[in-house]
Amino acid sequence: MTTPDWTRVLDDLARAGWTARVVAAGRMDDLRGRVAGVLASGELPGPTAEHLGEEVAFTWPAELPQARSVVVAATPRPLTRATLSVGGAEREIVVPPHYAGYHTVPDGLAVALAAALAPTGHTAARFEPPLKTLAACSGLARYGRNNITYVPGLGSYLMLAACATDAPPPADSVWGEPRQLDRCERCSACLRACPGGAIRADRFLLQTDLCLTTVNEDEAPFPDWVDPAWHHCAVGCLRCQQSCPENAGVELRIAPPESFDAAESAAILAATPADGIGAGTREKLSRCGLDYSPALIARNLTALLGV
Ligand code: SF4
Ligand code: SF4
Repeated sequence: MTTPDWTRVLDDLARAGWTARVVAAGRMDDLRGRVAGVLASGELPGPTAEHLGEEVAFTWPAELPQARSVVVAATPRPLTRATLSVGGAEREIVVPPHYAGYHTVPDGLAVALAAALAPTGHTAARFEPPLKTLAACSGLARYGRNNITYVPGLGSYLMLAACATDAPPPADSVWGEPRQLDRCERCSACLRACPGGAIRADRFLLQTDLCLTTVNEDEAPFPDWVDPAWHHCAVGCLRCQQSCPENAGVELRIAPPESFDAAESAAILAATPADGIGAGTREKLSRCGLDYSPALIARNLTALLGV
């Protein structure tokens, strides 16, 4: 085995669509500590704390228990769309970037990294550490006031992924305090655009129990404080990202809509389980990011479409 030329490896990843950084595997102890500290602060509501708790309990890939380095990377993702046939009318709905391919796109990083490392005899495997904190500490991303990560050239319309490798890290890899966008110091566009008031001027942490995304990604009934007029996506919320000047110069790619006929639309709105719909419909749902909990998507679409 030879030590990788990490500049070449990162260039190879860039050609495969991934903007990446590499850090020493030992940094994951610091990463765990940072996230555990946020959890211990008690400032996060139950569901968010639960999600973060799962992230901080990450394990190394079974095939790489002795990882030496970690590659964290971002790739641009498009807004996806679906056209539903409801009551004789075509109704288009949108899904923010990040949902379509949530479970599969990160595999692309593992494939590209394994190929880039192959000449050195080293291997790579995907794993799931707390990605936003990892990206921020590695210098790959900066946080916005909305607690979303931004990468130069990609804005916030991206997906993060990480791989462990058995290759030694470069001696000069960056690791430090997460940084906020410089622009946030003189901007409050997202704070003003946030429908629920989740973005606060007096603290960095999002008040996630007031975030529309938290609410519509949860299967519990919508709380009374959610104004029905706020719904604008099948799942998630785009208001803080679309209002952010940091995204103004970024091209948000928009995927062609997936079209669902009346029978397919009725099945979706009836929360039909995946095994009760055809393979073709399932594939379309996956391509536009609606392969989420059927009950949750049906609840959200009912509210969004007013049906
Ligand atoms: S996703 Fe929507 S509700 Fe959540 S912080 Fe951003 S604007 Fe506010
Ligand atoms: S809208 Fe303004 S304050 Fe909010 S994340 Fe973007 S730059 Fe920062």
